Amino acid sequence: MLIVAGLSLKNLQPRVWDPNSAYFLPSLKAVMVSYGEFHQMPAQMIRAKDLGLREYLGLPANVSVYLDNGAFYFLRAGGQAERKAYQEFVEKAKPDWYPIAFDVIPTPQMSDVRQRRCFDSTMAANRAYMHDGYVPVIHISRMLDGYVRAIMRNPKLAAKGRIALGGIVPNLLRAPKALSYDTVLENLLHVRDSFRKKEVHVFGIGGTSTVHLAALLEIDSADSSGWRNRAARGIVQLPGSGDRMIANLGKWRGRVPSKDEWEKLRHCRCPACAAKGIRGLRASGIAGFCNRATHNLWVLLKEEQWLAKHLRQETYAANYKRRLDNSTYLALIQKLILMTAKQKEIGATNQPLSGKSVKPSGAY
Ligand SMILES: [Zn+2]
Repeated sequence: MLIVAGLSLKNLQPRVWDPNSAYFLPSLKAVMVSYGEFHQMPAQMIRAKDLGLREYLGLPANVSVYLDNGAFYFLRAGGQAERKAYQEFVEKAKPDWYPIAFDVIPTPQMSDVRQRRCFDSTMAANRAYMHDGYVPVIHISRMLDGYVRAIMRNPKLAAKGRIALGGIVPNLLRAPKALSYDTVLENLLHVRDSFRKKEVHVFGIGGTSTVHLAALLEIDSADSSGWRNRAARGIVQLPGSGDRMIANLGKWRGRVPSKDEWEKLRHCRCPACAAKGIRGLRASGIAGFCNRATHNLWVLLKEEQWLAKHLRQETYAANYKRRLDNSTYLALIQKLILMTAKQKEIGATNQPLSGKSVKPSGAY
């Protein structure tokens, strides 16, 4: 799974993709910028259009640039003029990956009628961008099954090689009226299996444990800004573990590392810890932020490598419990392992799962 590091135009430090930076992470292969931010910063928008995103960011040839359409920023489908401006940006700035303009994100709290409206607007946008490389977007919501059917029914959308999935985060974070965990997992498996031939991108995954869920679901790429958001709040991530608060920046509180965890941090080999150690992680200001952010992204990339290795060697089931100590996600991961094993059996015997349109693939 490709980990796509979400960036912020307001502060491009630490330049983790840049071989000339002290914070360079060679295993990082993709970054994401948001059109919503460019929209708020017209001078940057002009510069990125003039130079192209690759040169604007100074990206090496082996790092891809993903564009987020800023749907969170626009909230509505956006007017015709805004869609035109987005298209022009895509054409000039040349991201490697870019979604349709604009999907309308449903929240779990919305009534069925309002979720239906989001669905209609998003599908209209998907149909308006059947050409070129625009990636269709669907949302985890009570309408998900409808999305899958609508995409499959449309030959041009069905033929597209990529699809993006949004709306996972509020459902996993247990927003009021969020779908049950079982339903979210069933939905995700359903999407993965329905679009077996497509590259599936998941928008906005959080920390290390959600990377496990995405990898088990055989998601192809996922973006996260958690490495920066956590760093700004004085939080670092530990391999396989949740967040730990290590710098007291005033407003925020959180779980502090145990004695063993401090020891783990002391031995961290990320570029920030290797150069500045724990003192660097705890520092205030931009220096502390850069150290924590680099550390967090390094941990996320390492987690993905650990997962890829164990899934490839089929040793994941024997090892994940020792790796993960986050109780909420541990229960979910156990469920997912059972569900994928069940699918594997079904795939082997070629029986459909509870009458659903799940294509047996045998890939699980
Ligand atoms: Zn570190």
